[in-house]
Amino acid sequence: MRTYGSKPRVGGDDVVAIPFGPATDSASAATALATGFKTDSGNISWLPGDPPAGELTTITEEYRTKTGAGIGVVSTVPFNHATPAAFVSHNPSRNAYYSGLKGYKGLGLADEIILRVKPDVVIGGGHPLLDNPDFNPRQGYISKSLYLGLKASPDYLLVERTPGADGGRAIVEGAAAALRAGKKLFGLFGGKGGNFDIAQAEDSPGRPRVTSGSEENPSLGEATVAALDYLGANPGGFFLVVEQGDIDWANHDNDYRGMVACIAELVGAVRAATAFVDRPGDTVDWTNTVLLVTADHATGGLVLGGAKRLGLGDLPRQDPRVAYPEAPPATGSDRGLSPNGAALTTPVYASPNVYPDEDIIFGTAGHTNELVDLAVTGAATRYFMKYRGTWYPGLVLDNTQINSALREALGLGALGRRAARGT
Ligand SMILES: [Zn+2]
Repeated sequence: MRTYGSKPRVGGDDVVAIPFGPATDSASAATALATGFKTDSGNISWLPGDPPAGELTTITEEYRTKTGAGIGVVSTVPFNHATPAAFVSHNPSRNAYYSGLKGYKGLGLADEIILRVKPDVVIGGGHPLLDNPDFNPRQGYISKSLYLGLKASPDYLLVERTPGADGGRAIVEGAAAALRAGKKLFGLFGGKGGNFDIAQAEDSPGRPRVTSGSEENPSLGEATVAALDYLGANPGGFFLVVEQGDIDWANHDNDYRGMVACIAELVGAVRAATAFVDRPGDTVDWTNTVLLVTADHATGGLVLGGAKRLGLGDLPRQDPRVAYPEAPPATGSDRGLSPNGAALTTPVYASPNVYPDEDIIFGTAGHTNELVDLAVTGAATRYFMKYRGTWYPGLVLDNTQINSALREALGLGALGRRAARGT
């Protein structure tokens, strides 16, 4: 029997004790990155405790106000999901996707993004005709009125997922058309769950291979190219957030195969961004551009088991849990609640996927407190390095310090005690 963390694994291959405590969610983590403020889980750029008028100005909005820069968000999950939302909207709840959802009377995230903040580029999932074709007001990411409004919008050129059409080509051509028309760019794609149909990694030792989910959605790289083509035309510069959001979703499912494909998608986006900055003939170069790659948190508690070393293109044997009737039943999530809602005193977790060869182990379906990587390009590195050792030993930064360093790199002053909206 192997041990994981400080507790022995019990019951064979798929049940482990959870060594991880409560961890941040994407809403509060993205709020820290976007505003420099810590807040409660679930808050979208809104002060902790949910006070009225608790909106926090985001670095995105402030940069636009002060410099005229273009702003944009791109995600493979719904365009108003927590991470992109925290950069371009404000709400005490990440679940307030649109006005009218489950009777929500306030300004929904989609409503605020489309009608108020109006980023120059929005590309993401959440297309209602795939995710919620009947516009059931108890689900989905966008209301019928907002969707119809987008189709006839004076502000946005809408590019949507279309049966049989190549989504990557559509969004890149849409960016050029929007520039010609003097409109902003909205790319509305997705699949049944609101997210793009994710790619699948194949077990092809020595030759890593990924098959894309559907050509009707752009790849994250294609969506990034479209956003950069559009925003790069702004003489005032730009601020773009690109999220591969399915990495988190795959890790919640303990789906290693899906996760690897999502990482490949992310690599495609980073390559596209790097190529864009390298491209000659424009004013964008590495002296005036910060490219930052990080995660808002980790998910799944993935540990490489070491029983068998996985080489290039090599995937572990991965079976659905249902193929193992002898495995103990799932006893609840690691979110602290059992299926009947009672608090779990000993959180035990049964993975939906089983890795019989024990070459990898997932420890949780939830988020974890592991440190995540942070990569920053060349000239901007010094703004980040100066925080080294100030709060934590060594080269560990707080997520709010990423905001501080970015502010400095962008020429914005130090953060006030609380930045009022619109200033
Ligand atoms: Zn998550």
